Amino acid sequence: MPLVGPMQVPMTVMDNSDPALVRELVGAIEELAGTGAFIGGPAVDSFERAFAGYAEAQHAIGVASGTEALTLAVRALGLEPGDEVIVPANSFIATAEAVVLAGGLPQFADVDPETQLITPQTAERAYGPNVRGVIPVHLFGRTASIEELAEQAGSHGAWLLEDCAQAHGARYDGRRVGTFGAAGTFSFYPAKNLGAWGDAGAVVTNDAELAEKIRLLRSHGEQPRYHHRAIGTTGRLDAIQAVVLERKLGQLEQLNERRRQVADALRAAIGPLDTLQLPPAAAPPTDCVYHQFVVRTPARDRLREHLSQRGIASGIHYPIPIHRSDAFASLNGHRDVAPVATKLATEICSLPIFPGMTAAQVEAIADAIQSF
Ligand SMILES: *Cc1c(COP(=O)(O)O)cnc(C)c1O
Repeated sequence: MPLVGPMQVPMTVMDNSDPALVRELVGAIEELAGTGAFIGGPAVDSFERAFAGYAEAQHAIGVASGTEALTLAVRALGLEPGDEVIVPANSFIATAEAVVLAGGLPQFADVDPETQLITPQTAERAYGPNVRGVIPVHLFGRTASIEELAEQAGSHGAWLLEDCAQAHGARYDGRRVGTFGAAGTFSFYPAKNLGAWGDAGAVVTNDAELAEKIRLLRSHGEQPRYHHRAIGTTGRLDAIQAVVLERKLGQLEQLNERRRQVADALRAAIGPLDTLQLPPAAAPPTDCVYHQFVVRTPARDRLREHLSQRGIASGIHYPIPIHRSDAFASLNGHRDVAPVATKLATEICSLPIFPGMTAAQVEAIADAIQSF
C-alpha cells in the first residue's frame, strides 16, 4: 500500500487522463486515415459547420493555430504601413505578434485592475490618428465590455476583432463572443477550453466577404488550384485536428459549466481574505468560462512556494506584460505605457482549474491558502 501523501493538484488535466476519450478519438482518426483526406475535405468542412453553429456565427474558417487565426484576420481586414492596432498589454504575446506579422504596429492599452481586461476607458487613451483597429481579449475566459468597445471602435472609424482564444462559448449579454465586431479568433491549443491534439485555430465572422478572404489567405491565395490571387500561407486546419475537435465540441458546453461551478466552489472555500483578491464572479451582461482562476496578492512568490510545498501547482499569466517583453519593449522606447498591467504581473497567481476538479482538490487548495 502506498502511503497517503499530500494531494497533488495539477494546473490542468489533459485528454490522456481519459482513456475512453482517447480510444474514441483514436478510432475516429483511424477512420479518417483510411480516407486519405488529411488536408481539407469533409472532416474540416464538418467541423467548420459545427463550430459556426456553436459560436452562433454564419462562417467559421479552420486554421493552423490561434496566432494564425489572428494574423489572417488582421491581414484580411487590411493594414497600410504605419497603421496601428490597439491590443491589451496583458495577454498572451500572440495578440500583439499578429498585428506585427500583418504589417501593423501594436498600441498597448492598459487594463482594469479588478478584471484585468481592456476597458473602454483604458482603450480610449490608446486611440490616435493612425489606429485602424482594436483587438480586445476575453482573457482568462472573462468577457470584456465588448458592446461598448465595439461602439467605441465604430466612433473612431476602427474595426474590432475579438481574441476569444481563452473564451470559447462565453456569452456577453446572452450572445456568444466572436461576432460583436468584424470577426472573432479562437485557439485550440491543447490546454485551451476546447483543445486539439496539436495546434489548431479558427476565425468566426458574419461577414461573407471577410470569410472568403481568410479562406484564400490560409491556403496561398489559391482559387482555383494553382491560380494565386493573393500572397497567402500554409495556414489551414489539419483534418486530424478537425476530427478531434468536432468530437470534443459536443462536451464543451457542459465542461464550461463545470468550470463555472469549480470557480464558485473555490471562491466559497477560500472565502474573503484581506491579503488575497479572488477573481470576481461574473455578473450579467458579462460571463466567464474560467480558462484560468487568477488571484492577486503582494506576497505572490511566497504564496506559490507555499502551494508548491503542498503539492499544488500554480502559474503566472503572464509574468512579463507584452509591452515590457524583449520583443516589444523597444517599440515604446522602453516607456511603461501600461503601469496597471506591469503592477499586476508582480502580484497575479493562477490557481489550478479544470472541469474534473474534485471537492477534495478544491478543499486542498483552500486549506493551503488559508494556512498561508
Ligand atoms: C493561446 C492564445 C493565443 C494563440 O493561440 P495559439 O493557438 O497558441 O497560436 C492567442 N491569444 C490568446 C489570448 C491566447 O491565450
